[in-house]
Amino acid sequence: MAKTIIVSNRLPVKISQENGKYNYMPSEGGLATGLGSIYKDGDNIWIGWPGLAVSKADHQKEITKKLKTESMKPVFLTNTEIEEFYEGFSNETLWPNFHYFNQYIVFDDDMWRAYQKVNRKFARAIAEVLEPEDTIWVHDYQLLLLPEMLREFAPKASIGFFLHIPFPSYESFRLLPWRRELLEGMLGADFLGFHTYDDMRHFLSSVNRLAGLGNSNGMINVDNRKVMVDALPMGIDYDKYAESAAAKETLEREARYRESIGAQKLILSIDRLDYSKGIPQRLKAFELFLEQNPDYREKVSLLMVVVPSRDQVGKYKELKEEIDLLVGRINGNYSRLNWTPIHYFYRSFPLNALSAFYRMAEVAMVTPMRDGMNLVCKEFIASKLDKKGVLILSEMAGASKELSDAILINPNDMGELVNAIKTALTMPVKKQMANMISMQRSLQRYNIHHWVNLFMERLHHIKHEQKALE
Ligand code: UDP
Repeated sequence: MAKTIIVSNRLPVKISQENGKYNYMPSEGGLATGLGSIYKDGDNIWIGWPGLAVSKADHQKEITKKLKTESMKPVFLTNTEIEEFYEGFSNETLWPNFHYFNQYIVFDDDMWRAYQKVNRKFARAIAEVLEPEDTIWVHDYQLLLLPEMLREFAPKASIGFFLHIPFPSYESFRLLPWRRELLEGMLGADFLGFHTYDDMRHFLSSVNRLAGLGNSNGMINVDNRKVMVDALPMGIDYDKYAESAAAKETLEREARYRESIGAQKLILSIDRLDYSKGIPQRLKAFELFLEQNPDYREKVSLLMVVVPSRDQVGKYKELKEEIDLLVGRINGNYSRLNWTPIHYFYRSFPLNALSAFYRMAEVAMVTPMRDGMNLVCKEFIASKLDKKGVLILSEMAGASKELSDAILINPNDMGELVNAIKTALTMPVKKQMANMISMQRSLQRYNIHHWVNLFMERLHHIKHEQKALE
């Protein structure tokens, strides 16, 4: 029987090594939860990198055997591959280009070769288990070449691709010397999904300009094969966040945190360390707000979580230093013995702690310069069981297309950001609740399970259409 193969750069598992023994922890990410119902079923399987460098053959064997019992198959990467393919081409070339940070792009042919080589490595690992009629769902920017490579192995397979980051406008994408190969790689898929209508439009425009292919309502004809493109915003596991916000452990944590932090209002900021997230801009806006509104000093604090990420990459190290300096400056200038303006954590927290933060905060500031979707803002909304609270959201985040009842801002407009903080802190409860209810309704409905079903439905639909044309 035909099976479904999920492919992503990282497997949904965290493996650590202790006293020569490997420990396996399932990862809690939204994608892992959403796809759990698929890859654990029957012969289905998830293929990806297990997240650590393992050079010894017997260790690789041991990990492969263990993961097989969890419906996973590892693709092992060498340290050089991790450096050149993952940290290099994926995160220093594609990531900045797709997020419009073009001055940060590293153009390096060796990194490009590593990217091709690792995509090929993934293709071979898939080929080992692939049967002609299987369905393969490829995820994200690390594997743009994979759909075309898979098509060579299995011309009849159903191949879907979803991009979790923005797809840039042609004017940005064209800067990449390897733009044609990347696009042709993606076009090996039968169905391509993007978070927003704009991402989809940008992709279609690049297909038109670079491959000379037009489209009709998102349908492209690639070598006599009908390929479909659509916008499919990814949702969250709504019930998981709502339930976690109601859990006893979360309430206990909230009480504990409240006691130590005091009664002032809280503005919440949670991101991975990344220049696309607009963290320094947010800090500067908060500083300006305190400067312009002295009556709010001692009455409001910023609770800022920055999750360590890609700290081997130069630009991320610089960003960390910039944030440390800004936090130090603001706290140094404004702190009182009984009040700290910014509570800053450079680490990650488990779900119960995040839920407590989401519950406690009157305001969440999610102000990326550019973000494919952004899940933190959706999780904040799902955690507000009393319907009170205000979301300040960047119009550059994919999520802003769905959450139009948030206070939408342009993160480059400092004045607008400062005003938004004031508006949020003074918003009447009735208005807060009306906005919250409307956003909750939409997130509850368009949740992660809905997204997974819709993706599969579209992929099967286009395969069906292709067959009808044969
Ligand atoms: N997150 C977490 N622990 C933390 C902070 C964040 O598990 O201490 C999670 C958060 O709940 C969210 C994810 O990290 O699900 C971040 O996803 P998002 O789409 O907002 O940003 P990304 O990091 O994917 O760019």
